[in-house]
Amino acid sequence: MARELAVARVVIERCSGYDKIAPALERLSKDLGLEKLVGKGDVVFIKPNAGSPTPPEREACTRPEALVALVKLLKELGAKKVIVGDHDALAAPAEFCFQRIGLYACRDVGAEVISLSKELHEEVEVPQGRVVKRILLPKIVLECDVFINFPKLKTNTFTTLSLGMKNLFGLIRREDRPRYHREEFDQALADLLKIRKPDLTIVDGVYAMEGQGPVFGTPVFVGTLIGGFDVVAVDAVASAIAGVDPWEIDAIRIAHSEGLGEGCLEEIETNAPLSEVSKPLKRPTRFLHARYPNVDVYLGGACRGCIDPIMTSLDGLDRAGLLPKAGRITVIAGKNPPTPIEYGDVVLVVGDCAQEYRDKGYFIPGCSPVLNLTDWSKKFSAKLRETS
Ligand code: SF4
Repeated sequence: MARELAVARVVIERCSGYDKIAPALERLSKDLGLEKLVGKGDVVFIKPNAGSPTPPEREACTRPEALVALVKLLKELGAKKVIVGDHDALAAPAEFCFQRIGLYACRDVGAEVISLSKELHEEVEVPQGRVVKRILLPKIVLECDVFINFPKLKTNTFTTLSLGMKNLFGLIRREDRPRYHREEFDQALADLLKIRKPDLTIVDGVYAMEGQGPVFGTPVFVGTLIGGFDVVAVDAVASAIAGVDPWEIDAIRIAHSEGLGEGCLEEIETNAPLSEVSKPLKRPTRFLHARYPNVDVYLGGACRGCIDPIMTSLDGLDRAGLLPKAGRITVIAGKNPPTPIEYGDVVLVVGDCAQEYRDKGYFIPGCSPVLNLTDWSKKFSAKLRETS
Protein backbone atom coordinates (compact mmCIF):
# COMPACT_ATOMS: atom_id res chain seq x y z
CA MET A 1 0.00 0.00 0.00
CA ALA A 2 2.83 2.39 0.86
CA ARG A 3 4.15 2.01 -2.70
CA GLU A 4 1.23 4.13 -3.97
CA LEU A 5 2.21 6.93 -1.61
CA ALA A 6 4.93 9.50 -2.05
CA VAL A 7 7.77 7.41 -0.60
CA ALA A 8 10.54 9.99 -0.93
CA ARG A 9 8.53 12.57 0.99
CA VAL A 10 9.44 13.16 4.61
CA VAL A 11 7.32 15.17 6.99
CA ILE A 12 8.82 17.10 9.87
CA GLU A 13 6.50 18.20 12.65
CA ARG A 14 7.55 20.57 15.39
CA CYS A 15 6.61 19.41 18.88
CA SER A 16 7.39 21.42 22.00
CA GLY A 17 7.09 18.55 24.48
CA TYR A 18 5.59 15.11 25.07
CA ASP A 19 2.42 16.72 26.46
CA LYS A 20 1.87 18.04 22.90
CA ILE A 21 2.73 14.81 21.12
CA ALA A 22 -0.84 13.79 20.17
CA PRO A 23 -1.63 16.88 18.02
CA ALA A 24 1.86 16.71 16.47
CA LEU A 25 1.27 13.09 15.47
CA GLU A 26 -2.14 13.97 14.07
CA ARG A 27 -0.60 16.69 11.90
CA LEU A 28 2.05 14.25 10.73
CA SER A 29 -0.64 11.66 9.96
CA LYS A 30 -2.67 14.12 7.89
CA ASP A 31 0.35 15.43 6.04
CA LEU A 32 1.52 11.92 5.12
CA GLY A 33 -1.98 10.58 4.42
CA LEU A 34 -1.87 7.73 6.91
CA GLU A 35 -5.54 6.98 6.28
CA LYS A 36 -4.37 5.45 2.98
CA LEU A 37 -1.87 3.23 4.79
CA VAL A 38 -3.98 1.92 7.67
CA GLY A 39 -7.18 0.17 6.63
CA LYS A 40 -10.17 -0.90 8.66
CA GLY A 41 -9.50 -4.19 10.43
CA ASP A 42 -5.72 -4.06 9.96
CA VAL A 43 -3.27 -5.64 12.36
CA VAL A 44 -0.53 -3.09 13.02
CA PHE A 45 2.80 -3.92 14.57
CA ILE A 46 4.92 -1.11 16.08
CA LYS A 47 8.63 -1.61 16.73
CA PRO A 48 9.80 1.08 19.15
CA ASN A 49 13.32 1.46 20.41
CA ALA A 50 12.93 -0.34 23.73
CA GLY A 51 16.46 -1.68 23.89
CA SER A 52 17.61 -0.23 27.18
CA PRO A 53 16.38 -0.69 30.77
CA THR A 54 16.42 3.04 31.47
CA PRO A 55 13.78 5.52 32.65
CA PRO A 56 12.12 7.58 29.88
CA GLU A 57 13.84 10.87 30.81
CA ARG A 58 17.21 9.35 29.92
CA GLU A 59 15.92 9.50 26.32
CA ALA A 60 17.54 6.22 25.28
CA CYS A 61 14.22 4.78 24.06
CA THR A 62 11.06 5.85 22.25
CA ARG A 63 8.94 7.75 24.73
CA PRO A 64 5.81 5.95 26.01
CA GLU A 65 3.75 9.16 25.54
CA ALA A 66 4.60 9.04 21.82
CA LEU A 67 3.65 5.37 21.57
CA VAL A 68 0.37 5.86 23.44
CA ALA A 69 -0.57 8.74 21.12
CA LEU A 70 0.28 6.64 18.05
CA VAL A 71 -1.77 3.66 19.28
CA LYS A 72 -4.79 5.92 19.80
CA LEU A 73 -4.37 7.42 16.35
CA LEU A 74 -4.14 3.99 14.70
CA LYS A 75 -7.29 2.85 16.48
CA GLU A 76 -9.08 5.98 15.23
CA LEU A 77 -7.91 5.16 11.71
CA GLY A 78 -9.60 1.75 12.03
CA ALA A 79 -6.84 -0.65 13.07
CA LYS A 80 -8.34 -3.81 14.56
CA LYS A 81 -5.32 -4.71 16.59
CA VAL A 82 -2.19 -2.74 17.52
CA ILE A 83 0.79 -4.63 18.88
CA VAL A 84 3.89 -3.00 20.34
CA GLY A 85 6.94 -5.19 20.81
CA ASP A 86 10.69 -5.61 20.97
CA HIS A 87 13.21 -8.36 21.67
CA ASP A 88 15.27 -8.79 24.82
CA ALA A 89 17.90 -6.08 25.01
CA LEU A 90 21.59 -6.84 25.35
CA ALA A 91 21.49 -5.76 28.99
CA ALA A 92 18.07 -7.00 30.17
CA PRO A 93 14.95 -9.02 29.26
CA ALA A 94 12.36 -7.14 27.20
CA GLU A 95 9.77 -7.10 30.00
CA PHE A 96 12.19 -5.41 32.39
CA CYS A 97 13.01 -2.77 29.76
CA PHE A 98 9.30 -2.20 29.07
CA GLN A 99 8.71 -1.63 32.77
CA ARG A 100 11.58 0.83 33.14
CA ILE A 101 10.63 2.74 29.99
CA GLY A 102 6.92 2.85 30.87
CA LEU A 103 5.89 1.02 27.73
CA TYR A 104 3.05 -0.91 29.40
CA ALA A 105 1.05 2.37 29.29
CA CYS A 106 0.19 1.29 25.73
CA ARG A 107 -2.07 -1.41 27.23
CA ASP A 108 -4.26 1.31 28.76
CA VAL A 109 -5.18 2.47 25.26
CA GLY A 110 -5.87 -1.00 23.91
CA ALA A 111 -2.53 -2.17 22.48
CA GLU A 112 -0.88 -5.51 23.15
CA VAL A 113 2.67 -5.20 24.46
CA ILE A 114 4.78 -8.24 23.68
CA SER A 115 8.30 -9.51 24.14
CA LEU A 116 9.35 -10.66 20.67
CA SER A 117 11.76 -13.04 22.39
CA LYS A 118 8.72 -15.10 23.49
CA GLU A 119 7.01 -15.03 20.08
CA LEU A 120 7.13 -17.49 17.20
CA HIS A 121 9.88 -16.89 14.65
CA GLU A 122 10.19 -17.98 11.05
CA GLU A 123 13.40 -18.60 9.17
CA VAL A 124 13.50 -16.54 5.99
CA GLU A 125 15.92 -16.38 3.12
CA VAL A 126 17.24 -12.90 2.34
CA PRO A 127 17.00 -12.15 -1.38
CA GLN A 128 20.36 -10.71 -2.52
CA GLY A 129 21.54 -10.78 1.10
CA ARG A 130 25.23 -9.89 1.24
CA VAL A 131 25.83 -10.49 4.95
CA VAL A 132 22.50 -11.79 6.19
CA LYS A 133 21.64 -14.83 4.06
CA ARG A 134 19.00 -16.53 6.22
CA ILE A 135 17.57 -15.28 9.47
CA LEU A 136 14.91 -15.97 12.06
CA LEU A 137 12.44 -13.11 12.32
CA PRO A 138 9.29 -12.77 14.44
CA LYS A 139 6.24 -14.00 12.54
CA ILE A 140 4.26 -10.95 13.59
CA VAL A 141 6.67 -8.71 11.66
CA LEU A 142 6.32 -10.86 8.55
CA GLU A 143 2.56 -11.24 8.77
CA CYS A 144 1.16 -7.94 10.09
CA ASP A 145 -0.79 -5.72 7.68
CA VAL A 146 1.12 -2.58 8.62
CA PHE A 147 4.61 -2.48 10.09
CA ILE A 148 5.55 0.78 11.84
CA ASN A 149 9.10 1.55 12.89
CA PHE A 150 9.30 4.10 15.74
CA PRO A 151 12.92 4.75 16.69
CA LYS A 152 14.50 7.37 18.92
CA LEU A 153 16.79 10.07 17.55
CA LYS A 154 20.13 9.52 19.23
CA THR A 155 23.83 9.25 18.78
CA ASN A 156 25.53 5.88 18.85
CA THR A 157 29.15 4.94 19.45
CA PHE A 158 28.85 2.11 16.93
CA THR A 159 27.04 3.83 14.05
CA THR A 160 27.39 7.58 14.89
CA LEU A 161 23.58 7.92 14.82
CA SER A 162 20.83 5.50 15.74
CA LEU A 163 17.77 6.07 13.54
CA GLY A 164 15.19 3.99 11.66
CA MET A 165 17.44 1.40 10.06
CA LYS A 166 19.41 0.86 13.25
CA ASN A 167 16.16 0.30 15.16
CA LEU A 168 15.39 -2.66 12.88
CA PHE A 169 18.42 -4.51 14.28
CA GLY A 170 16.18 -5.16 17.28
CA LEU A 171 14.14 -7.50 15.08
CA ILE A 172 17.01 -9.99 15.36
CA ARG A 173 17.06 -12.32 18.35
CA ARG A 174 19.51 -11.30 21.08
CA GLU A 175 21.52 -14.52 20.67
CA ASP A 176 21.85 -14.03 16.89
CA ARG A 177 23.10 -10.44 17.04
CA PRO A 178 26.83 -10.90 17.82
CA ARG A 179 27.57 -12.40 14.39
CA TYR A 180 26.43 -9.15 12.74
CA HIS A 181 27.77 -6.80 15.42
CA ARG A 182 31.04 -6.30 13.56
CA GLU A 183 32.34 -4.28 10.62
CA GLU A 184 29.61 -5.63 8.34
CA PHE A 185 26.89 -4.29 10.68
CA ASP A 186 25.61 -1.60 8.31
CA GLN A 187 25.41 -4.02 5.41
CA ALA A 188 23.37 -6.29 7.69
CA LEU A 189 20.96 -3.40 8.32
CA ALA A 190 20.55 -2.91 4.57
CA ASP A 191 20.00 -6.67 4.10
CA LEU A 192 17.16 -6.59 6.62
CA LEU A 193 15.31 -4.16 4.34
CA LYS A 194 15.31 -6.84 1.64
CA ILE A 195 12.97 -8.99 3.74
CA ARG A 196 10.31 -6.56 4.90
CA LYS A 197 10.66 -2.82 4.85
CA PRO A 198 8.70 -0.88 7.43
CA ASP A 199 5.60 0.70 5.89
CA LEU A 200 6.12 3.82 7.97
CA THR A 201 8.98 5.16 10.05
CA ILE A 202 8.57 7.94 12.60
CA VAL A 203 11.61 9.19 14.49
CA ASP A 204 10.95 10.42 18.01
CA GLY A 205 13.13 13.51 18.06
CA VAL A 206 11.21 15.60 20.55
CA TYR A 207 13.99 14.90 22.99
CA ALA A 208 17.06 13.17 21.61
CA MET A 209 20.26 11.77 23.09
CA GLU A 210 23.65 13.25 22.18
CA GLY A 211 27.22 12.31 23.06
CA GLN A 212 27.89 8.74 24.24
CA GLY A 213 24.69 7.16 22.96
CA PRO A 214 23.00 4.75 22.65
CA VAL A 215 22.79 4.50 26.46
CA PHE A 216 25.23 6.82 28.22
CA GLY A 217 24.63 10.04 26.32
CA THR A 218 22.92 13.25 27.40
CA PRO A 219 19.26 14.17 26.76
CA VAL A 220 18.77 17.18 24.54
CA PHE A 221 15.68 18.98 23.22
CA VAL A 222 15.32 18.90 19.44
CA GLY A 223 11.54 19.37 19.15
CA THR A 224 10.76 17.33 16.04
CA LEU A 225 8.96 14.27 14.81
CA ILE A 226 10.26 13.04 11.46
CA GLY A 227 8.07 10.65 9.48
CA GLY A 228 7.82 9.00 6.09
CA PHE A 229 7.25 5.77 4.20
CA ASP A 230 10.84 5.29 3.07
CA VAL A 231 13.02 4.51 6.07
CA VAL A 232 16.19 5.46 4.19
CA ALA A 233 14.78 8.89 3.30
CA VAL A 234 13.57 9.42 6.88
CA ASP A 235 17.04 8.51 8.17
CA ALA A 236 18.70 10.86 5.70
CA VAL A 237 16.51 13.78 6.83
CA ALA A 238 16.90 12.93 10.53
CA SER A 239 20.64 12.69 10.05
CA ALA A 240 20.79 16.13 8.41
CA ILE A 241 18.70 17.59 11.25
CA ALA A 242 21.18 16.08 13.73
CA GLY A 243 24.03 17.81 11.90
CA VAL A 244 25.50 14.74 10.22
CA ASP A 245 25.83 14.44 6.44
CA PRO A 246 23.69 11.38 5.53
CA TRP A 247 26.52 10.02 3.38
CA GLU A 248 28.60 9.66 6.55
CA ILE A 249 26.11 7.10 7.83
CA ASP A 250 27.15 3.78 6.33
CA ALA A 251 23.70 2.19 6.49
CA ILE A 252 22.13 5.09 4.55
CA ARG A 253 24.86 5.01 1.91
CA ILE A 254 24.68 1.23 1.44
CA ALA A 255 20.87 1.11 1.35
CA HIS A 256 20.76 3.98 -1.15
CA SER A 257 23.38 2.39 -3.40
CA GLU A 258 21.47 -0.90 -3.40
CA GLY A 259 18.25 0.87 -4.41
CA LEU A 260 16.54 0.12 -1.10
CA GLY A 261 15.51 3.71 -0.48
CA GLU A 262 16.36 7.32 -1.16
CA GLY A 263 19.36 8.66 0.74
CA CYS A 264 20.04 11.71 -1.38
CA LEU A 265 18.65 14.84 0.33
CA GLU A 266 18.22 16.63 -3.00
CA GLU A 267 15.77 13.92 -4.09
CA ILE A 268 13.69 13.99 -0.89
CA GLU A 269 10.75 16.34 -0.58
CA THR A 270 10.21 17.81 2.88
CA ASN A 271 7.51 20.11 4.23
CA ALA A 272 10.02 22.41 5.93
CA PRO A 273 13.53 23.61 5.16
CA LEU A 274 15.99 21.49 7.16
CA SER A 275 17.92 24.60 8.19
CA GLU A 276 14.88 25.73 10.22
CA VAL A 277 14.76 22.58 12.33
CA SER A 278 18.42 21.62 12.44
CA LYS A 279 19.89 20.83 15.87
CA PRO A 280 23.41 19.44 15.56
CA LEU A 281 24.04 16.76 18.18
CA LYS A 282 27.35 16.27 19.97
CA ARG A 283 28.97 13.22 18.48
CA PRO A 284 30.08 10.15 20.43
CA THR A 285 33.69 9.10 20.70
CA ARG A 286 34.95 5.60 20.02
CA PHE A 287 38.52 6.46 20.86
CA LEU A 288 39.47 4.31 23.84
CA HIS A 289 43.04 5.41 24.44
CA ALA A 290 43.51 7.77 27.40
CA ARG A 291 39.76 8.00 27.89
CA TYR A 292 39.92 6.85 31.51
CA PRO A 293 43.03 7.45 33.63
CA ASN A 294 43.03 3.97 35.20
CA VAL A 295 42.46 2.05 31.96
CA ASP A 296 45.34 1.02 29.65
CA VAL A 297 44.27 -0.18 26.23
CA TYR A 298 46.24 -2.40 23.86
CA LEU A 299 44.45 -2.82 20.55
CA GLY A 300 45.82 -4.84 17.68
CA GLY A 301 43.75 -5.08 14.53
CA ALA A 302 40.56 -4.70 16.50
CA CYS A 303 37.38 -3.78 14.68
CA ARG A 304 34.47 -1.85 16.13
CA GLY A 305 32.78 -5.18 16.97
CA CYS A 306 35.16 -5.27 19.95
CA ILE A 307 35.97 -1.59 20.39
CA ASP A 308 32.38 -0.48 20.71
CA PRO A 309 31.29 -2.92 23.46
CA ILE A 310 34.52 -2.19 25.37
CA MET A 311 33.66 1.51 25.22
CA THR A 312 30.07 0.88 26.33
CA SER A 313 31.18 -1.32 29.24
CA LEU A 314 33.70 1.25 30.48
CA ASP A 315 31.22 4.11 30.04
CA GLY A 316 28.65 2.09 32.01
CA LEU A 317 31.07 1.44 34.89
CA ASP A 318 32.07 5.10 34.87
CA ARG A 319 28.50 6.35 34.90
CA ALA A 320 27.73 4.08 37.86
CA GLY A 321 30.73 5.58 39.70
CA LEU A 322 32.38 2.15 39.83
CA LEU A 323 35.29 2.53 37.40
CA PRO A 324 37.73 4.21 39.84
CA LYS A 325 37.05 1.42 42.35
CA ALA A 326 38.25 -1.27 39.93
CA GLY A 327 41.94 -0.40 40.31
CA ARG A 328 44.14 -0.40 37.23
CA ILE A 329 42.50 -2.09 34.24
CA THR A 330 44.34 -3.47 31.23
CA VAL A 331 42.27 -4.12 28.10
CA ILE A 332 43.64 -6.23 25.24
CA ALA A 333 41.74 -6.77 21.98
CA GLY A 334 42.27 -7.41 18.29
CA LYS A 335 44.78 -9.40 16.26
CA ASN A 336 48.45 -8.99 17.21
CA PRO A 337 48.03 -6.34 19.91
CA PRO A 338 51.12 -4.56 21.23
CA THR A 339 52.67 -6.38 24.21
CA PRO A 340 51.48 -4.60 27.38
CA ILE A 341 54.17 -2.71 29.31
CA GLU A 342 52.61 -3.98 32.53
CA TYR A 343 49.43 -5.71 33.59
CA GLY A 344 46.86 -4.00 35.84
CA ASP A 345 44.77 -5.31 38.75
CA VAL A 346 42.12 -6.40 36.24
CA VAL A 347 43.16 -7.73 32.84
CA LEU A 348 40.46 -8.05 30.21
CA VAL A 349 41.21 -9.97 27.03
CA VAL A 350 38.33 -9.20 24.70
CA GLY A 351 37.28 -11.13 21.60
CA ASP A 352 38.48 -14.20 19.71
CA CYS A 353 41.13 -12.22 17.81
CA ALA A 354 43.10 -11.67 21.03
CA GLN A 355 42.89 -15.21 22.36
CA GLU A 356 46.67 -15.68 22.37
CA TYR A 357 46.49 -13.52 25.56
CA ARG A 358 43.66 -15.51 27.11
CA ASP A 359 45.83 -16.77 29.98
CA LYS A 360 46.71 -13.24 31.08
CA GLY A 361 43.33 -12.41 32.64
CA TYR A 362 39.57 -12.64 32.07
CA PHE A 363 39.00 -13.85 28.54
CA ILE A 364 35.76 -12.63 26.97
CA PRO A 365 35.23 -14.90 23.96
CA GLY A 366 33.17 -14.17 20.88
CA CYS A 367 33.26 -12.42 17.57
CA SER A 368 31.75 -10.04 18.37
CA PRO A 369 32.00 -10.58 22.14
CA VAL A 370 29.23 -8.03 22.74
CA LEU A 371 26.89 -10.38 24.62
CA ASN A 372 29.61 -11.98 26.72
CA LEU A 373 31.10 -8.60 27.56
CA THR A 374 27.68 -7.22 28.55
CA ASP A 375 27.16 -10.21 30.87
CA TRP A 376 30.67 -9.83 32.31
CA SER A 377 30.11 -6.10 32.95
CA LYS A 378 26.95 -6.84 34.89
CA LYS A 379 28.73 -9.36 37.11
CA PHE A 380 31.77 -7.12 37.54
CA SER A 381 29.58 -4.13 38.50
CA ALA A 382 27.76 -6.28 41.08
CA LYS A 383 31.10 -7.42 42.54
CA LEU A 384 32.40 -3.85 42.77
CA ARG A 385 29.19 -2.72 44.46
CA GLU A 386 29.49 -5.54 47.02
CA THR A 387 33.08 -4.72 47.88
CA SER A 388 32.73 -0.93 47.99
S1 SF4 B 1 37.09 -10.69 17.68
FE1 SF4 B 1 38.24 -9.58 16.08
S2 SF4 B 1 36.91 -9.59 14.23
FE2 SF4 B 1 35.67 -10.21 16.00
S3 SF4 B 1 34.70 -8.33 16.66
FE3 SF4 B 1 36.60 -8.51 17.86
S4 SF4 B 1 38.19 -7.46 16.71
FE4 SF4 B 1 36.41 -7.71 15.34
